Amino acid sequence: MKTKVCIIGAGPGGATAALQLAQLGIECIVVDKAVFPRDKVCGDGLSGKVLTLLERIDKGIGQRLQQAMFKMDSWGVTFVAPNRIGMDIPYRLNYQQDMSNPRGFVCKRIDFDNFLVDEIKRRSEIRLFEGVSIDKYELQPDGYLLSSKDGSFQVKADIVIVANGAHSGFTKDVAGIKMEPEHYVAGIRAYYKGITGLHTDAFIELHFLKNMLPGYLWIFPLPNGEANVGVGMLSNSARNKKVNLKQLMLDTLATDPVMKERFANAELVGTIDGYGLPLGSKKRKLHGERYMLVGDAGYLIDPFTGEGIGNALYSGRFAAQQAAAAIAANDYSDKFFEAYDNDVYRILGPELQVSTKLQKLIKYPWLFNLLMKMGSRNKQLKDLMSCMFHEVDLRKKLGKPMFYVKLLFNR
Ligand SMILES: Cc1cc2nc3c(=O)[nH]c(=O)nc-3n(C[C@H](O)[C@H](O)[C@H](O)COP(=O)(O)OP(=O)(O)OC[C@H]3O[C@@H](n4cnc5c(N)ncnc54)[C@H](O)[C@@H]3O)c2cc1C
Repeated sequence: MKTKVCIIGAGPGGATAALQLAQLGIECIVVDKAVFPRDKVCGDGLSGKVLTLLERIDKGIGQRLQQAMFKMDSWGVTFVAPNRIGMDIPYRLNYQQDMSNPRGFVCKRIDFDNFLVDEIKRRSEIRLFEGVSIDKYELQPDGYLLSSKDGSFQVKADIVIVANGAHSGFTKDVAGIKMEPEHYVAGIRAYYKGITGLHTDAFIELHFLKNMLPGYLWIFPLPNGEANVGVGMLSNSARNKKVNLKQLMLDTLATDPVMKERFANAELVGTIDGYGLPLGSKKRKLHGERYMLVGDAGYLIDPFTGEGIGNALYSGRFAAQQAAAAIAANDYSDKFFEAYDNDVYRILGPELQVSTKLQKLIKYPWLFNLLMKMGSRNKQLKDLMSCMFHEVDLRKKLGKPMFYVKLLFNR
């Protein structure tokens, strides 16, 4: 089989790349080792970026997602500092005045990813192969030959968009990017039902509990009274402290004075599963001759929030646009694909840098405590933090020492 573009992986990054290519009138082949619907270990939190990007590709996709029944509209975040002072920060100020257009959602990845795969199945320009793992990649003078382990599936592509997630063999073997524990988070996820004390407007909760630092516990409300509950911690910290994340979470839910009340009648649904989060806290080369790395395969997860779906979508769209440019120019060189990295880091770079700084703040729990204490009393600071969801320039302030000095003296 021959194709101009082959996309490895039909997760959010790969599916978005395929949809954008189709929108540009370019045919492609998408190969995924799983058969959809399939699960993916995740917090299931979708930020405003997801809808914005899908709407940019095709307004209809955005509308269909807005109408979907499997998602829970979420209007903000509750941060809980190690001193247990919490602060509710809405994504939009005065959001109660207009609740017709939610931008944040929580939805199980089995549903969201299947939604995207259904979207790619609607497009005649995209051929999807499910249940096929690409394990061999050979660069030949006229393209990449991609094959399954036993060679029963083969495709020859002018361009490869690598979107096969955190454990991508291509990323490791061809791009030479190795997992570094200081730029990688270990995460576990569980589904519970019957948790009490959830926010009425489905705010997602991030708990920076003392016993979990520098990691945190999240509770993200889902439809039907369920919630996604999990813990994430930098891999080097988890390793150094010899932490068993699953045990840490179960012990915390059973013994922490607040959590034990809230989980008193809660029931675990299914199993507790783990997966890695490759962080964008370090800039990497995301391309080479005839290929581009997208989403987790390109280490693009936000190091502070753990958000990777939005960044997978953005990079997927940029990769599709760059593939179109390469086809038009008939240039598949390493140099030509440099423009892809430039696009990714121009748009995502500033917030990845700010989040890398914020991630380091967790090492100073007292600072975090102070911020929450002041924010809970000071409406201006709370509003400022709300605006930070949209404005990276404002978020930059959080990473600067002068911000805290000014706060202390303006109390
Ligand atoms: C515990 C945890 C919590 C998280 N919470 C959040 C959150 O709340 N919000 C958020 O935005 N992000 C979160 N993330 C990050 C998010 O899950 C990822 O950033 C996102 O899934 C990246 O999408 P992707 O398309 O790059 O990769 P994936 O979603 O991993 O998709 C990769 C696809 O490639 C396929 N594949 C793999 N290998 C092959 C192969 N050899 N051949 C063919 N196909 C292959 C897989 O089957 C899969 O379908 C979390 C991650 C973890 C681990």
